[in-house]
Amino acid sequence: MLFCNTQDLQTILNILYILNELLTVGGGRRVGVFVSKGGTGILLQLVLSGSKESPPSEELMLQLHSLLAKVGPKDRKFGVKARLNGALNVTVNLLKQNLQNHKLLLPCLQVLRVYSSNSVNAVSLGKNGVLELMFKIIGPYSKKNTSLLKVSLDTLGALLKSKTNARRAVDRAHVPVLLYIYQDWHRNDTRHRHMLIRKGVLGCLKNITNIKLGRKAFIDADGMRILYNTSTVSTVTKLPKTQSCLCPCVWLPVDDVVDESDDNDDVETENDTENEEEDKDHHNDDIETDINKLRPKETHSRPFEELKIYERFFLELSEDFQVMQDRHPFVSLSQRPIIVPTAQALPPKYPTAAPLQEECHLAKGEQPHPEASPLAPAPTPAPVHTLDTINITKDHDGCCDHSQVRPQPVLEHYRQPPLLAGGVAAQQGGGAEETLAEEWAEEEEGGEGAVLEVPDTALLLPLHDPDLYVEMVKSTRSVPQYSEVAYPDYFGHVAPTFREHILERVYGVQRTKIFQDIERLIHPNDILDKVVYDLDIQSCPVIDDGESLKFNSQFESGNLRKAIQARKFEYDLVLNSDINSNHYHQWFYFEVSGMRVGAPYRFNIINCEKSNSQFNYGMQVLMYSVQEAISGRPRWVRTGTDICYYKNHFSRSSIAAGGQKGKSYYTMTFSMTFNHKDDVCYFAYHYPYTYSTLKMHLQKLEALRTPQIYMRQDILCETLGGNSCPLLTITAMPESTSNDQICQFRNRPLVFLSSRVHPGETNASWVMKGTLEFLMGSSPLAHSLREAYIFKIVPMLNPDGVVNGNHRCSLSGEDLNRQWQSPSPELHPTIYHTKSLLQYLAAIQRAPLVFCDYHGHSRKKNVFMYGCSLKETVWQTNISATSCELHEDLGYRTLPKILSQMAPAFSMASCSFVVERSKEATARVVVWREIGVQRSYTMESTLCGCDQGKYKGLQIGTRELEEMGAQFCVALLRLKRLTSPLELRNHAHLLDVESDLIETRCKVSRSDTCTHQGYYSKQELTLKIYTETIIFECETN
Ligand SMILES: [Zn+2]
Repeated sequence: MLFCNTQDLQTILNILYILNELLTVGGGRRVGVFVSKGGTGILLQLVLSGSKESPPSEELMLQLHSLLAKVGPKDRKFGVKARLNGALNVTVNLLKQNLQNHKLLLPCLQVLRVYSSNSVNAVSLGKNGVLELMFKIIGPYSKKNTSLLKVSLDTLGALLKSKTNARRAVDRAHVPVLLYIYQDWHRNDTRHRHMLIRKGVLGCLKNITNIKLGRKAFIDADGMRILYNTSTVSTVTKLPKTQSCLCPCVWLPVDDVVDESDDNDDVETENDTENEEEDKDHHNDDIETDINKLRPKETHSRPFEELKIYERFFLELSEDFQVMQDRHPFVSLSQRPIIVPTAQALPPKYPTAAPLQEECHLAKGEQPHPEASPLAPAPTPAPVHTLDTINITKDHDGCCDHSQVRPQPVLEHYRQPPLLAGGVAAQQGGGAEETLAEEWAEEEEGGEGAVLEVPDTALLLPLHDPDLYVEMVKSTRSVPQYSEVAYPDYFGHVAPTFREHILERVYGVQRTKIFQDIERLIHPNDILDKVVYDLDIQSCPVIDDGESLKFNSQFESGNLRKAIQARKFEYDLVLNSDINSNHYHQWFYFEVSGMRVGAPYRFNIINCEKSNSQFNYGMQVLMYSVQEAISGRPRWVRTGTDICYYKNHFSRSSIAAGGQKGKSYYTMTFSMTFNHKDDVCYFAYHYPYTYSTLKMHLQKLEALRTPQIYMRQDILCETLGGNSCPLLTITAMPESTSNDQICQFRNRPLVFLSSRVHPGETNASWVMKGTLEFLMGSSPLAHSLREAYIFKIVPMLNPDGVVNGNHRCSLSGEDLNRQWQSPSPELHPTIYHTKSLLQYLAAIQRAPLVFCDYHGHSRKKNVFMYGCSLKETVWQTNISATSCELHEDLGYRTLPKILSQMAPAFSMASCSFVVERSKEATARVVVWREIGVQRSYTMESTLCGCDQGKYKGLQIGTRELEEMGAQFCVALLRLKRLTSPLELRNHAHLLDVESDLIETRCKVSRSDTCTHQGYYSKQELTLKIYTETIIFECETN
């Protein structure tokens, strides 16, 4: 306040000296106070008034600027204040007049650096010639004034974030100058004393190359080679990362629709810089704060009359078993998919389905097949038997005869996986088929032992049957009409017995990979750029010159769009987007053959989208070798070295990046050497589990049914693609037809499970497999579980996505787990009908005790759950006013708590019960809110591995996933005991069995009387266990 009243320069200076002392010693806190009291404004005012003196007092300006340099970075509005105040120009003029006065120059530059971080200031400073001013200060190597140089480079870097300034720098030929300065410092600063200066130059170059002109200027100035040559001998590990950003941005080597405006990226826009850290902030913003959306949705919008048709899926609720001996529960009355009244009233589906199909083919880059339209279902939802009309089944007479499949071709001459349709070999190149057949015949005569045999896995894989698998494939409908079967799905997978550790990342692997990428630009002579596989071109020539690998992904769940041999042993791979979408590239599953033993192959999947991946944290890809399989080791194994995942220079069109411009793709790279000659290998993102595999498993599970098991398989509905969506009912048969027993049977609480809404999350299917096998098992626990509950299970919510190799969506190109609020019966039939089942249950007062949707998680480790809690959500927000009125049963925590105590892969610490806004249309939230299921969960399984518990440090395998599914069942049994005391006594005898099976570590608070346990009667003991479990539950909550 004193400042304003005094005109005396010396007094002002004295105050400024004191202030300078104060703010230097006090650190950030004092500066904060100074800013909050309006100190910045006063200082800026003094700058302005001081500048009006002629000449301005140098000492005053020096003091003011060194104060501003301290205060500026702490004041978020500093840039705006300075501009409005007119201080910007004062500082710039001061600089211009004092270029040789280093004492004054430094604080002025420091202040300028802060001004420039404001984008509006940057543009205006650029116009005022500040870029040129900076180039007068920065220069070749010199030991003098390095701090001045450093600040100037930072200022320049900040100014160049503006595209206008970047263009100006290109126009004035500053790019070669910067490169020259960089080289000079690199040459002379041999002891790396001034790394920050080189870093500053690189920062400037990086910002200039954000625009297209800049990238061109950079390449024209031979920048790529200069940086490459300097950084290979440099110790600066940061450099390559920067350098990859300097690469000229290009489109993916496929023909895609791109937004033309993306090409013109040099236009100044607000917020034009990419900010990946934003995700974290969004996370907090995402919490639901609307209390009404956290309360149960009261109105059931659908009249019961409309829901009544779902009664047929709940025969067990009215079953009286009067003719029990003949009755086979499986002979279901509802074999036909349900006909929705609303859907029926619509005109034939062709008009909606046909355009979809066309887009589909475009999206997959294929020619439309006019005669075959797997996407156009019959006018009304068709009965299942019409599936017979699809091609595969028609053609199967000639080719899929077991006599043809069984004596497999000699592997040496192996060309194709077992064919279902005769046409495929012919498609791929006419005469080859005959020649092949001849060769096989010859070979079969002479070569004993060389014949490819189906590995005998019946003992190891009781639920797998290759012949049955092929049968199942015939009725599976895919958009590309796959006619081949991948060997891994045919042979089956036996989980290896050895441990697969989470890979330790080799230091500098990303640097090496990026150097290799850059070398492509520098040594173009090594580059082959040979397209060896291309789904977009129907007649893509299969070059068989022994110089290239052969690729294939034309089978169920397969996903590979294009393969380009970049160098002799290096391939760039492009994945298909989800059908009717132009993104979601993550899932892959393809076949490779024609490899050389021992050669160091490198594979790069170049159009990944997520900004980070577990591939950077020890996850490996999965590989299946047919040679290994026929040697008795049919299995997927984690493989690959030098794995890393990083941003590349391929641009994403804004259409494919949700409207955001300037986004890039990511490369997932891995290297490997093949061990077998003439092998056929498969690579996948995660353990494949096809829709046909599910159908096969379900048939095999049916065979496990005993007279004690009630199991029914209904067809819930048909998908857009014409596949049926199975619904399972599993419980125990009543012990007799007595009223009591029937009553107990009908009144068992329901557990509703679903999985695989996201096709790329195959781990969810393996967990589901574990659950189903446990439920159909013969153990006493399984029996108790069936007696305790009626299980309703939709094991695959998105069959079409799975079949067609999608990562996330269904055929409509939508994420089905965002459609639960108002699913459309036409576009999202599986969700619509699953929700209807739940609505029906709610309407008859039988809402399930537990709802759980199994998923896979690509970024986190372990297995964990997401649940819904009103309180825990409110606690995370600021809506505290109402929180004291909130009443909530804590029961939603019990199941995950039990799981964390018995399932080694499960981690309570990773669980969350907060309701996010972005998740309001997911199964978990809708079932919680609309159906009123308190225990409504998403169970997420890692794709990578565990960092706690028994499996710490190991990658997850199918054995662990299946075990998780089984343990989920055991946990439900314990939940049952915790929730209903009456049931307890019936199963008291099982408690020991259970505790043998699972390592219980529950901290039950035991009283002293515990030691007298032997004296309790059975009933007393039961009561005691009950009270203890109650205590347990209280504690765990
Ligand atoms: Zn998911």
